[in-house]
Amino acid sequence: MDAEHTTRILKDQAAIQQQLWRTALGPWESGVLPSADSLDRARKSLKTSLVEDGIGFAETQSHILEDIVPGFNGGSISPNYYGFVTGGTTPAALFADNVVSAYDQNVQVHLPNHSIVTDVENAALGLLTDLLKLDRQQWKNGTFTTGATASNIMGLACGREFVLRTAAERKGSSVKSMGEHGYLEVLKAAGLSRFQVLSTMPHSSVGKAAGILGIGRANVKNICVKDDPLQFDMALLEEELAQPETASIVAISCGEVNTGRFATRGIDQMKEIRRLCDEYGAWIHVDGAFGIFGRILEDTPEFSSIKAGCEGLELADSITGDGHKLLNVPYDCGFFLCRHAHVAGNVFQNANAAYLSSGESSGIAIPSPLNIGIENSRRFRALPLYSSLISYGKSGYREMLKRQIRLARMISTWLFDHPAYTVLPTYGSKKELLQNTYMVVLFSAQDERLNGELAKNINVTSKIFVSGTVWEGRPACRIAISNWRVDEQRDFEIVTGVLQSILEENEQKK
Ligand SMILES: *Cc1c(COP(=O)(O)O)cnc(C)c1O
Repeated sequence: MDAEHTTRILKDQAAIQQQLWRTALGPWESGVLPSADSLDRARKSLKTSLVEDGIGFAETQSHILEDIVPGFNGGSISPNYYGFVTGGTTPAALFADNVVSAYDQNVQVHLPNHSIVTDVENAALGLLTDLLKLDRQQWKNGTFTTGATASNIMGLACGREFVLRTAAERKGSSVKSMGEHGYLEVLKAAGLSRFQVLSTMPHSSVGKAAGILGIGRANVKNICVKDDPLQFDMALLEEELAQPETASIVAISCGEVNTGRFATRGIDQMKEIRRLCDEYGAWIHVDGAFGIFGRILEDTPEFSSIKAGCEGLELADSITGDGHKLLNVPYDCGFFLCRHAHVAGNVFQNANAAYLSSGESSGIAIPSPLNIGIENSRRFRALPLYSSLISYGKSGYREMLKRQIRLARMISTWLFDHPAYTVLPTYGSKKELLQNTYMVVLFSAQDERLNGELAKNINVTSKIFVSGTVWEGRPACRIAISNWRVDEQRDFEIVTGVLQSILEENEQKK
């Protein structure tokens, strides 16, 4: 490409950028879902074979903007999209993400004389530990991932390495690294025959991680008490940890995805789990994809239950967090933090590629990302996070989360008081409900027929979007509030307006 060509493209790019920003950051007026027509048109517009000569950049731009973009949903752009936990994109993150794409830096090796990118990643990890009130020195071993799923794979992989290594070392074996010698040889050397993950209501990605890592989805065991599927049965935990010839990882759901509730209840319980895991040589992995951000709240009675739910995580061995959820940076961005220095290297090192190790020194020891994570080449995904964190600071993120929690609590109180709806899990008192609601509201309609179609009827309005799920065998709806543009009063009116109109429609149908 000649210089003139490049300049023209960049100029066009800038104009389009302006146009996109007006849509992406302006008021969101169209529905949260694309219309059936837009989807149909977008689908029909897709090219079905690659032509010999391209249609050119200009026509491609029109095709993407006019045909494909109308087929998108408002998942991240609209503050009233409450499906999954999607977050949004803050202006500071969007700006940085465009820089990332334009300059296309590959983050793989720490080469301090070639690029600043690994230093930026390292700085962003430090800022994250500040935000999460974790000790920088203890939690400096981390990396950026594609999301919480990849972080959970890393957590279980590091746990497996550590637990087996410890057991093999106790037997005096020189065969001790899973990453080096493989599962079968190390299991044998360690005198073990089973590997299990103990958890309560783990996110589906924990099972996926167990499947990928050869632990097996069937070996992810629920160890909850009888009357609460999320609370650890501490006696059962000890019983399972003590099983002969068995190695274990304890996976803590710090924020359960259906209810937004927490698996643990404060520092005393975390200390007890830590004590048991030390005694039996187990690893503690915390899946805090969105729950861990409860740590940024103030110590006030309003948030005391949430704070207790993510207290003591500093006692874990590894932690998963998501950037593209509550931190409101674009996909894809997750992070993995670990308290042990060499474990990730033992698992993920890119063997026999001496040319890829960093020969230079910058005064700070930063490991090359390709030796401590899954990919060898990857996107510079730390920059949007760095940009957003320094732009809004601790208080910016704290205020955002408080607005999300307060809106969730306003909606759950409204539902609690409403004769036609039930908040789940069922709460004894309104006070308990308020205390325990994080940024997720799970509910159902009492009318059986209506309840079966509730999520569908809500989403067809396209004013809000909720996830349909199942709770204790019955269909249920889930509202997850995670967008930076949340506005308690405005959004409360919109959500309750839709929920009320669904009931009125249902009455008319009778
Ligand atoms: C969303 C989520 C995941 C998976 O995260 P991705 O970013 O989609 O990979 C894992 N655990 C929990 C608790 C989650 O909420």
